[in-house]
Amino acid sequence: MPEIQRRKTPTVRIGQIRVGWEVPVVVQSMTNTDTADVQSTIDQVAALALAGSEIVRVTVNNEQAAEAVPHVVEGLDKRGITVPIVGDFHYNGHLLLKKYPATARALAKYRINPGNVSIGRKDDDNFRTMVECAVENQKPVRIGVNWGSLDQALLTRMMDANSKSANPLPARDVMMEAMVVSALDSAKAAERYGLRDDQIILSAKVSGVRDLIDVYTNLASRCHYALHLGLTEAGMGAKGLIASTAGLAPLLLAGIGDTIRVSLTPKPGGDRTEEVLAAQQILQSLQIRSFMPQVTSCPGCGRTTSTYFQELAEQIQNYLRTSMPEWRKTYPGVEELKVAVMGCVVNGPGESKHANLGISLPGTFEEPKAPVYVDGKLLKTLHGDTIVAEFKEILDNYVVSHYGKKQEELVGA
Ligand code: SF4
Repeated sequence: MPEIQRRKTPTVRIGQIRVGWEVPVVVQSMTNTDTADVQSTIDQVAALALAGSEIVRVTVNNEQAAEAVPHVVEGLDKRGITVPIVGDFHYNGHLLLKKYPATARALAKYRINPGNVSIGRKDDDNFRTMVECAVENQKPVRIGVNWGSLDQALLTRMMDANSKSANPLPARDVMMEAMVVSALDSAKAAERYGLRDDQIILSAKVSGVRDLIDVYTNLASRCHYALHLGLTEAGMGAKGLIASTAGLAPLLLAGIGDTIRVSLTPKPGGDRTEEVLAAQQILQSLQIRSFMPQVTSCPGCGRTTSTYFQELAEQIQNYLRTSMPEWRKTYPGVEELKVAVMGCVVNGPGESKHANLGISLPGTFEEPKAPVYVDGKLLKTLHGDTIVAEFKEILDNYVVSHYGKKQEELVGA
């Protein structure tokens, strides 16, 4: 597999997490609780961290939220959860960070939106106040440009200049350029006000896939800062997942992006951790990082008239997912495991041989037996009602024998 040439960036420390060229791409997420509701926020951050989010952002939109932040961090500490908490500020971050110094200290990073921090002002004093607060507390910042809240004064200036030029560009191109200029000018100002380049992360989020690829490709070619990637307002369900993957994949394969977030809209009452699993799956599908054993399963066809094979594929997937929090601690490397669950013998044995463990279920009119392959060799053939239980047992034994050994080696090393 050809190695991805990551773009070289400074390494930014966010609490105990590092973001940048020297370390693997970091997965992050954001809560949707009212931050002022301390308990709900602690619970959701804990769930996101348990799912594998390495950084969690919370909105800090008013005084109640700002007041709650140190309690959220303290509550997480008491549970032994050390995930860095990032404060998401818009409009009033300069006021909140000054008025609530304990919040400024408790947060691991501040997100500044240059499009709305200085609304209605001719100077950038509000931006400067936030940066000075970051310098005082030695916190990194993300300068997060978003096309939904792009600096309107800057955009108007650039649109005016464009309309007067001999060869005016399409309005879309001017807007993309304004996003890059907003991010770069703000980063330069942040350095003037005292931050180092290894305390700055940039993002320029849009909701269109091709816009995202264009804007980040441009931004990456014009600066050396670490970049946070994400398609903003990606949407719900399949649309959100596919659009995010389509946007992030070409950038990540080109070595652009040091931390990612997948901004899915959850269903009402839906599980917020889906965005973490989606981000992990994007990185794992691109073979950039491994988080979870992967299940390869065929789509099924007319050869699989019963739902048995779909149920088995789902049960194995769920079993792996629920086992992982414990396995991750006990069996290092288990996230590289590959399991194949196939519907019949047409592609079943072949696909099984490419996995660490594979099972081919009997298709319609086939003999009721399920050959199991381990590391490319036929181990045994399962029959009857106990196929699932026996396959799980084989899986457990494989995990213990292959990844338990690695742990002993690590302890002895
Ligand atoms: S492996 Fe068998 S059941 Fe699955 S899609 Fe192929 S032919 Fe159909």
